[in-house]
Amino acid sequence: MTDKARVVDYQGVLDYIAEAVRPQFGKGRVADYIPALADVDARKFGMAVRLVDGTLYTVGDGLERFSVQSISKLFVLELAMQHFGDMVWTRVGKEPSGDRFNSMMRLEHERGIPRNPFINPGALATLDLVMGLKGDTRHRLRNYLRFLAVDETVDSNATVARSELDHAHTNRALAHLMKAYGNIDNDVEDLMETYCFQCAMEMNCAELATAALPLAGGGYSSLHDTAVISKNQARRINSVMLTCGMYDSVGSFAYRVGLPAKSGVGGGILAVAPGRMTICVWSPELDAFGNSYVGTAALELFTSMTGVSVF
Ligand code: GLU
Repeated sequence: MTDKARVVDYQGVLDYIAEAVRPQFGKGRVADYIPALADVDARKFGMAVRLVDGTLYTVGDGLERFSVQSISKLFVLELAMQHFGDMVWTRVGKEPSGDRFNSMMRLEHERGIPRNPFINPGALATLDLVMGLKGDTRHRLRNYLRFLAVDETVDSNATVARSELDHAHTNRALAHLMKAYGNIDNDVEDLMETYCFQCAMEMNCAELATAALPLAGGGYSSLHDTAVISKNQARRINSVMLTCGMYDSVGSFAYRVGLPAKSGVGGGILAVAPGRMTICVWSPELDAFGNSYVGTAALELFTSMTGVSVF
């Protein structure tokens, strides 16, 4: 049934969810392997829904910016696909990993070609491609996110980026291993600095929901008034999100929520309902897989209450 045929009170649904998830606080843990992330208030909760016609609904801390972390991998993949097309898939696969987001083991088995662009080695390979383009990659990333969010103040948090860079031993090791296999062109330290800048971008739920709107609109977004990516690219990115976007709990997330989504260790989850809307939720406490504990519960409630799902 379309949204026109069935009028859903999305604001009412969000208000209900914000209350209903309260008992879930305290069950997850805020990420602390990046020390600057550990300072965030664990009880924050925000959510935003952006319909393809541009209508926005928010609740709680939906307008407060947080560290997007791995959600940025989605937008770097978009940039890579815009500039390199299917060549991207010679550098990175499109299969779920079944391992932790920064696991080294499989990378060695698969000779430096990461399983998908949403685990850390895959994101590093994708970023390495984008860094091959002319011009300053950090400006390119920031400008792209400002354009997508329709907000010129979107920026990276230098303290968070520094903190991650100081503790990025596993990511550095992944990058060096890939370089040894010939799958990284840039200097590893340049790559790490750019990657930490990318992960430390700060956006709020409403901005992230806006930024993903082209993925819900077959590449087109009513807010940007243009086709940001091609229809084909939107379909393919949504498919990779559905199978790889939630690390090694992607199966249970698909079972519980039923939408393509990308999470980040800052506690954000950005989901796409193709043809209908984007939904972003933020709650910093994470489950054992590195996905927002309360955020997953909130999305499960949202899709159960509204019937918005790809299945
Ligand atoms: N910056 C984080 C890292 O590389 C991103 C991980 C995530 O958000 O899942 O460890």
